Amino acid sequence: MTLSLNAPQTATDIPPHRQNGWRGLIEAYRPYLPVTDSTPVISLHEGNTPLIPVPTIAAEIGKKVQVFVKYDGLNPTGSFKDRGMTMAVTKAKEAGAKAVICASTGNTSAAAAAYAKRGGLRAFVLIPDGYVALGKLAQALVYGAEVLAIKGNFDRALEIVRELADRCPVTLVNSINPYRLEGQKTAAFEVIDDLGEAPDWLCIPVGNAGNITAYWMGFCQYHQMGRSTRLPKMMGFQASGSAPFVVGNPVLQPDTLATAIRIGNPANWDKALSVRDASQGEFNAVTDDEIMHAYRMLGQEGIFCEPASAASVAGLLKLKDRVREGATIVCVLTGNGLKDPDAAITHSDDSLFKKGIEPDLETVAEIMGF
Ligand SMILES: *Cc1c(COP(=O)(O)O)cnc(C)c1O
Repeated sequence: MTLSLNAPQTATDIPPHRQNGWRGLIEAYRPYLPVTDSTPVISLHEGNTPLIPVPTIAAEIGKKVQVFVKYDGLNPTGSFKDRGMTMAVTKAKEAGAKAVICASTGNTSAAAAAYAKRGGLRAFVLIPDGYVALGKLAQALVYGAEVLAIKGNFDRALEIVRELADRCPVTLVNSINPYRLEGQKTAAFEVIDDLGEAPDWLCIPVGNAGNITAYWMGFCQYHQMGRSTRLPKMMGFQASGSAPFVVGNPVLQPDTLATAIRIGNPANWDKALSVRDASQGEFNAVTDDEIMHAYRMLGQEGIFCEPASAASVAGLLKLKDRVREGATIVCVLTGNGLKDPDAAITHSDDSLFKKGIEPDLETVAEIMGF
């Protein structure tokens, strides 16, 4: 079967929940989410991110296939975490919470800070000192979070916030908060709304495995409602220095330049294995070099994602021999490239950047090759 982007052709084909303009994913998918008419919705109009064809990546597969990226880096704070955070903060507000807390490799803290402050709550974030991309730290500070950088990795930060949330009047908004997954599952709804069907493969970077779990929830729910006739194989990719699902046990010292997935002891361990089994999917590892190769290829398509996000495309390229003729594949791009300018500049092509040039027309034209 060939699927086309934006399958609905006429106004009556547009699902009713998307007909009144976009006012955020809770409004768009209200019937599928745990909210009532009196729930105080905290939204930045997140969601509705584009599903973009990437023909040069499809060409690399060497067969007739369609490859799309779900560019979730275009959410209000630049990552898919906004999908979960609009729900988690909305429900915290509804329950009367005054503060939220999370451990974060960066994007969760940016999203938690933005939504908490918008809802009038305090936001506390614990980050691993020195391992958070610059853009993400900048965001948390601008949105007014109280940032605590600990001398330990993400896994240790998560242990601490879990205990704090038990003892103190703060709501935990890491992906073990069930409302996070409820919000995040809407990305799967959007994929099916755009394609008119579920893809064959959903390729996705995996850290704590909240997102792969949430996508699967969304695909299953839409399938049950008859909005798709099939379910995708869930293909999760981890960085090889930080691949607990591939090695089969927690990794004590996770290491990768893809800091958003630098997680050794995933919070959603059991759920992730269930998703793999139920979808007949797999977990595989990609090296940092493979990740950065995919990252640069995406740049050549005009798409700037952060390194962790490129793991989905790197994984697809690694498994390309196993893709069937005629398949439709969606790779999730979880975060925006602007989050991590250091990675972009360090891994750019030196020959493209010429410095110290005399400011005269002759010299500039000559360097340009004219
Ligand atoms: C959080 C995050 C991930 C990992 O998602 P999990 O739900 O923890 O598996 C991947 N990429 C980016 C950019 C992220 O922010």
